[in-house]
Amino acid sequence: MVKIAIDSERCEGHGRCYSLAPKLVEPDDLGNGRVIGDGTVPADQEDNARQAEGNCPERAVLLEET
Ligand code: SF4
Repeated sequence: MVKIAIDSERCEGHGRCYSLAPKLVEPDDLGNGRVIGDGTVPADQEDNARQAEGNCPERAVLLEET
């Protein structure tokens, strides 16, 4: 199982995460990424989660594989 998280200390609000994985991440009031729900990534969203991880300029998108 994969879980997605965002390091709010690093996030600078570029928005790539919620563009690439809109079912997993949404913008907060400042435009920073915020994980939807508890961060569990459904199997059909794993590619999007990896795209978000790989494209965050601040390396603030974290994936945990369990
Ligand atoms: S892509 Fe990275 S820096 Fe941009 S909003 Fe998402 S987590 Fe934040």
